[in-house]
Amino acid sequence: MTDKSLPFTQEQLEAIAAEVPTPFHVYDEAAMRKNARTFYAAFAWVPGGFVNYFAVKALPNPHVMAALKQEGMGGDCSSLAELKLCAAVGITGDKIVFTSNDTPAHEFVEAARLGAIINLDDLSHIAYLEKALGGRLPEMLCFRYNPGPLKAGNAIIGKPEEAKYGFTRAQLFEGYRILKEKGVKRFGLHTMVASNELNPDYFVETAQMLFDLVVELHRELGIRFEFLNLGGGIGIPYRPEQTAVDLAQIGARIKAAYEKTIVANDLGPIRIAMECGRMVTGPYGYLVSRVLHKKAIYKNYVGLDACMANLMRPGMYGSYHHITVPGKEAGPRKVYDVTGSLCENNDKFAVDREIADPAIGDLLVIHDTGAHGHSMGFNYNGKLRSAEVLWQGGGQWKLIRRAETYADHFATLDYPGLG
Ligand SMILES: *Cc1c(COP(=O)(O)O)cnc(C)c1O
Repeated sequence: MTDKSLPFTQEQLEAIAAEVPTPFHVYDEAAMRKNARTFYAAFAWVPGGFVNYFAVKALPNPHVMAALKQEGMGGDCSSLAELKLCAAVGITGDKIVFTSNDTPAHEFVEAARLGAIINLDDLSHIAYLEKALGGRLPEMLCFRYNPGPLKAGNAIIGKPEEAKYGFTRAQLFEGYRILKEKGVKRFGLHTMVASNELNPDYFVETAQMLFDLVVELHRELGIRFEFLNLGGGIGIPYRPEQTAVDLAQIGARIKAAYEKTIVANDLGPIRIAMECGRMVTGPYGYLVSRVLHKKAIYKNYVGLDACMANLMRPGMYGSYHHITVPGKEAGPRKVYDVTGSLCENNDKFAVDREIADPAIGDLLVIHDTGAHGHSMGFNYNGKLRSAEVLWQGGGQWKLIRRAETYADHFATLDYPGLG
């Protein structure tokens, strides 16, 4: 079970809404930092230090990234914009992992200029990168492993053979052999094959799989690995009946696997990294909107001033996001479809959901929007991207992104009368 009570009162939200137009996303900084510390404590045993490379795409706001940097996190980037955000907040060098796919040459050039750890997605990218960098390779390189159709017994890992990412097992052996031949000196290995996974066994199995692979790669090629990146994908309890992953338990079980495999084969020390996004910021973000309309036709509807352009997950994946009405937690409840205003019938935040019965004009809060929320937004129907607010506790908050204006929206059109 997960407590879905809000970290702010109705009055505190109304005070923000008096200055920042709804809808907006608000992020709870203290809760995010506390979670980051729990995460790092679970991996404090890692020889040479543990790093979580925050997946920038989850919440690409430099104010949040700067707070996460203070907590020791690096940045996981897959595009030039994400590299620029990292550089702006002072995340550079081996605090960046650049895990892109289908990557244009100039993005590799910028990643190399920043000293990022480059994680290649395919065997053919070795030559592509070498050409992009004017005929040389970085001193350190990493490959992304796609475990494909694993043996029975590894069912937890899902269906990586359907995914476009990474090297096959055979290609990994070939790839590291080529790197060695070309004089690359430092090696990493990465995998990322799940998303929003709440089963802790999955992460322990992924670690064990990489540890075993490192033993075999060492046996066959004589290379030693400097770090292993277990990827992201730790899930969050979107539903109140779900429970967050026990990070301390995962950390302890991965430690046991490390000792049994890496230490026993005398292949340490190997640094361990992860690149979680959702788990780092997801539960600490809230989309705050106002009820504009209610209607009763064949079903009952609550219409908001937020829409799918502010939070795409429910419309796109049918994802559950918890909904509360501040100040009405103890009041009567009723079943509604909660909708936005796009001319798309899947613009619904909830379908047939029993919620506290709101009145027109009430604030309504959609939970767990701190990852893949604002960042997945778009401008369909000319909807403007919302503001983002950082909640600093005790009634203190700061605007960390203003809402778009129509001038922003029309800025790329050169046409009289628009702006
Ligand atoms: C999206 C992504 C992540 C983050 O995934 P979460 O589910 O947010 O933890 C990490 N690494 C890569 C390569 C990704 O594409």
